[in-house]
Amino acid sequence: MTRILHRQIHAKLPTARGGQGVHLFDTDGRSYIDASGGAAVSCLGHGHPDVTAALHAQADRLAYAHTSFFTNEPAEALAERLIASAPEGISHAYFVSGGSEAIEAALKMARQYFVETGQAGRRNIIARRQSYHGNTLGALATGGNEMRRTQFRPLLIETHHIDPCFAYRFQEAGETDERYAARAAQALEDKVRELGPETVMAFVAEPVVGATAGAVPSVADYFQRIRAICDRYGIILVLDEVMCGMGRTGTLHASAQDGIAPDLMTIAKGLGGGYQPIGAVLLSQRIFDAFANGSGLFQHGHTYICHPMACAAALAVQEVIARDNLLANVKTMGAHLSRRLGERFGNHPHVGDIRGRGLFMGVELVEDRSTKAPFEAELKLHARVKREAMARGLLVYPGGGTIDGVHGDHVLIAPPFIIDAATVDTVVERLGEAIDAAT
Ligand code: PLP
Repeated sequence: MTRILHRQIHAKLPTARGGQGVHLFDTDGRSYIDASGGAAVSCLGHGHPDVTAALHAQADRLAYAHTSFFTNEPAEALAERLIASAPEGISHAYFVSGGSEAIEAALKMARQYFVETGQAGRRNIIARRQSYHGNTLGALATGGNEMRRTQFRPLLIETHHIDPCFAYRFQEAGETDERYAARAAQALEDKVRELGPETVMAFVAEPVVGATAGAVPSVADYFQRIRAICDRYGIILVLDEVMCGMGRTGTLHASAQDGIAPDLMTIAKGLGGGYQPIGAVLLSQRIFDAFANGSGLFQHGHTYICHPMACAAALAVQEVIARDNLLANVKTMGAHLSRRLGERFGNHPHVGDIRGRGLFMGVELVEDRSTKAPFEAELKLHARVKREAMARGLLVYPGGGTIDGVHGDHVLIAPPFIIDAATVDTVVERLGEAIDAAT
């Protein structure tokens, strides 16, 4: 009997013992293709010798030194590296232990920026429905997944939500991408005007929506319009690239494909590739200057910020990705995966949509393809597909049910960047069997 409080208390979980490349192995001798990297975490696959060597070396040298006394070498080197490749205007990095912590820190940076610049009335956060920004209270308040929020609602700060840009669900028949982008972005401007621009602090969005909607990119021009609205009203744009960032979509930052730069960007998962828990906020010079020229401090902090082991792991992961030109493989294998999914599921009666970018693909499951009607939430179809896939030695990340009464179940496919074409083919074959068995 386990003494761990697992997320699903009654689930009988296999015990993971090892991992090599794109494979995970359990203690019963079963092997799985890790086609989701957990939840888009293991971007480099498992057991990469260069990363484990860097971890050993760092553990031998220095495992921990508190940031109120010291900075440290791997954290400084990682910050240099991230800023050298950051979007325009981004000048500094703040290291935490994961995605939720990164969102919490970003929200506080946005708030402190307005306090430092004499706009203390700015406190409202606007975000989007069908989004996920983490499970800590500020992040949960910001996210738009009602299922996760309902019972904790009395503990959550007030936030405001607009519809996401989600073509499969919200683009109207005959509406061009351009008009849809304008309409979806207008929802932000309307909300800003409703609240009063002088009260609005930040707009938070995932460039490609991950866990709650299943790899949903926006249509062209949407984020450019969002950027313009934020600029017009002096609002801080926080792009949450915790899941879609760090190369997953084929460019280092997903938002590069939307042609915009944020004021704050959160990254995590693929930053350390699961070798250590790490996340970061990348912040703009403007925000840094407000702190530096104002109070001279960021009023925040955790025991493990800038953790040397975490930063050393992330540095090694990012060095290998660059050295081995793995983003080129993300693009090539992403196109191959997208093609194969289209061939296998293009006419499937229960697959409504296949979407995504790079090695970040979502397959949406519907009861009725012509009406897009989702399966009954009670069926937990996404969980069934996960189970059927696991029984066939395949890991895909399930999500959905009926969220905000809107969309159906989906599975996310987000394999390591090192995957090859033959393994992609096996992933699609096993996923096909799993979906057929589950529906
Ligand atoms: N933001 C996004 C977009 C995420 O997908 C997640 C996790 O799935 C988080 C934030 C929270 O990250 P963590 O689980 O590391 O706290």
